[in-house]
Amino acid sequence: MLDTLIKNVTAVTMDDEGHLYHDAYIAIKDGKITYIGTDAPQEQAEKVIDGRGMIAMPGLVNTHSHAAMSLMRGYADDYVLQEWLNDHVFPIEGKLVGDDVYWAMLWTQAEMLATGTIAYTDMYMHLPKMAEAAVDGGLYANISNGAMCFNPAGYCFDTDSVTGQNREVLERFHKVDNGRVKLDVSIHAEYTSFPGLWQDFSAYAAENGLNMHIHLSETRAEHENCIAKYGKTPAAILAENGVFNTRTTAAHCVWVSDADMDLLREKQVTVAHNPVSNLKLASGIAPVARMLEKGVNVALGTDGVCSNNNHDLFEEIKLAALLQKGVSGDPRLVPAQQALKMATRAGAFAQGREQEIGQLKEGFDASLILVNTGKPGLYPVHNPVSTLAYSARGGDVYLTMIRGKVLYENGIYTALDMERIRSKMEPILNRLFRA
Ligand SMILES: [Zn+2]
Repeated sequence: MLDTLIKNVTAVTMDDEGHLYHDAYIAIKDGKITYIGTDAPQEQAEKVIDGRGMIAMPGLVNTHSHAAMSLMRGYADDYVLQEWLNDHVFPIEGKLVGDDVYWAMLWTQAEMLATGTIAYTDMYMHLPKMAEAAVDGGLYANISNGAMCFNPAGYCFDTDSVTGQNREVLERFHKVDNGRVKLDVSIHAEYTSFPGLWQDFSAYAAENGLNMHIHLSETRAEHENCIAKYGKTPAAILAENGVFNTRTTAAHCVWVSDADMDLLREKQVTVAHNPVSNLKLASGIAPVARMLEKGVNVALGTDGVCSNNNHDLFEEIKLAALLQKGVSGDPRLVPAQQALKMATRAGAFAQGREQEIGQLKEGFDASLILVNTGKPGLYPVHNPVSTLAYSARGGDVYLTMIRGKVLYENGIYTALDMERIRSKMEPILNRLFRA
């Protein structure tokens, strides 16, 4: 007996051959896809979902977020980056307590589910509370707290607060629920720390087999100041200090050089491209087409909501493709299939989940979304891949399933109590912004 059978659906699999099925069946048992194709399975199913007028695709992976920043949605727009951070973001973050992060992350995960995201890679603070929120939210999550320190003389790895939080989360939460929640190690960025710290946190990641998450060459000033200080680019100096020795996600990479791209390729670093945030903060446009041409794994992220201002990855998919066409004058660059791959398989690799998610394939987790193509903005569908990359918006997602469980369907959340989460957010917002 199958748990669920999806029938009559158009399936964009994202597998190696780029299989695309019309009137397809997707059979699901024990959280896994047991069959995908056009022959009706003989086995009966407990639940049948009619996918007529829907496209099924692998759920999206957001490889760079600061989920709890949803508290600051629309709070500080149209400022220069340093002013934005120093005068607006940091003062609010200074007031945050663990419970604020917990409830804001649940709220954000609800937004993610409703817009087709099933997995995210998050860097923020109050790591044990982040872990609790990740466990309760139901999405795949790689979570980390970005280590930073401006005073090498006062720094000690063993007593650093991030080290303490990493150790606690490693013991209590790492790989819980069959690896759904994972601890990553994070160094916030080159310009907010120094070689001793990079070496210590990289060694800790290697000892414990943990991924690394870092901001890299986001702004021109950051990139050039590093060259002035060390005589090397951020990518080069970080690599020299062991930062890319475990599987790494490097956010932004707007200003990386050609040699940096070769290094990222060689070290199998995933670039988390955040086109909306990079444009909104006027950081620039990452040379994504060039990276892809060199074989760098490029995935997508939203960054924090304070510089976006939503977690809708469909916006990032479309913009990632359009920007490369626009700046190059070549509309053939980053075609629709490649843009979708960035939001699915490339992200799955970044998280170390490439055998579980990112494709609709037998043996993979049944972690998928259904996009409603009956809506005026999506009909007619001449090419489902193009519909997903260029026409679809997060709000067109009809259903989001993780490991065979429907977590969101047509406006309804099956596991999150939205009224309760919202009621917890109100007093937090009052304290942070109106006190
Ligand atoms: Zn960021």
